[in-house]
Amino acid sequence: MSEFLLKPRICFGQDALSVLDELTACHVLLVTDQAMVKFGLAERVTQRLCARGIDWQVWDDVVADPDIATVVRGMKLMDSCYPDLVIALGGGSVIDAAKAVIFALAQTRPEAGRERPCFVAIPTTSGTGSEVTSFSVVKAHAEKLVLVDSSLLPDIAILDPSLVASVPPAITADTGMDVLCHALEAYVSLAASDFSDALAEKVVQQVFSYLPSCWRNGQDLQAREKMHNASCMAGMAFTNASLGITHSLAHALGGVFRVPHGRANALLMAHVVAWNADYHGQCDTLAARKYARLAHLLDLPASTPREGVTSLLVAIQTLKDEMNMPRGINDTGVNAADFDQRLAEMVAQALRDSCTPTNPREPDARALTELYRQAWSGNIAQCH
Ligand code: NAD
Repeated sequence: MSEFLLKPRICFGQDALSVLDELTACHVLLVTDQAMVKFGLAERVTQRLCARGIDWQVWDDVVADPDIATVVRGMKLMDSCYPDLVIALGGGSVIDAAKAVIFALAQTRPEAGRERPCFVAIPTTSGTGSEVTSFSVVKAHAEKLVLVDSSLLPDIAILDPSLVASVPPAITADTGMDVLCHALEAYVSLAASDFSDALAEKVVQQVFSYLPSCWRNGQDLQAREKMHNASCMAGMAFTNASLGITHSLAHALGGVFRVPHGRANALLMAHVVAWNADYHGQCDTLAARKYARLAHLLDLPASTPREGVTSLLVAIQTLKDEMNMPRGINDTGVNAADFDQRLAEMVAQALRDSCTPTNPREPDARALTELYRQAWSGNIAQCH
């Protein structure tokens, strides 16, 4: 028996934020960060609450890649203000922090007998899809831990493209490549299904069609809307099909060297595609054939699996170059000696990451080490 879970309710399109006017609540906790306050996005939410006389409070110091200390701060606040509605407004970091706080309070304070608050997620990046996933990523020291539980799923996701218009080009590129990576990994995952495949195929087409426009002109709301929807669809795909070792390697790289999550995926993705496809061997794995199918859907040459994989690898590199993204980890400010010194630790983290078991090809420490070394220089070289 297989299962495909559909939750939450998704409200999308311009003015999707107006669904907030339908919600009833006595006390709202708005979880957000300083950028949301600076760009006036938090105010767009609180104005609506004020207009309806709803009492609210803001927690606005969530940091990127939230750690356990952030979650503990949020737990103390939520425990004292007792909200019946939690609204998370921000990128994946903010949404994940809110998820972890709600989850941890329910686990550690069951005696309080409180009902779980209604949880609304409003993404302001088109990247993680966290608004529809049962995942939350929290940092413990230099390791990103992936919490997976269906109770982490929000009740309502609001996808309003006007909230993404202020995302600067570099973050648009990073988060957009995260969307692509979610689709590629869900598509070749050992837990992929017809349902997740349909979503992943649509996502890949939308990313290649619309991400460059978003990067060039953040105010292009039509392109922003397509990328925002793609991000959410990719989340729907991977929350059901899970992911693979690009994410495992990226979590460790981000945890140890603070490389932003989407950029880490972008640096590793093509190397993992080539390895999963056995590109330097027969290049006829199921993953190779599925990558070739994606190339075909993108109208690229794909008469054989090898030709299709080559087309996809070139397309990924072209997309990154178009957005001036770094080619190798060596281009991101990470020190070479530090990288060598922490390599074994990152490999160990990646091996135990919860995304690793569904990768289509089972990795060992040697393969992961080699993939990191390739990603360091950016050259797709032989790796068996
Ligand atoms: P982010 O939330 O860390 O945000 C990146 C930066 O962009 C921050 O400085 C933020 O303030 C800023 N920002 C966000 N929205 C903005 C806007 N509209 N205008 C201007 N600036 C804005 O980045 P992210 O990529 O969305 O999230 C990354 C986090 O999510 C990582 O910790 C990653 O591990 C995690 N993640 C979670 C899931 C999941 O399913 N839960 C999936 C993938 C990644």
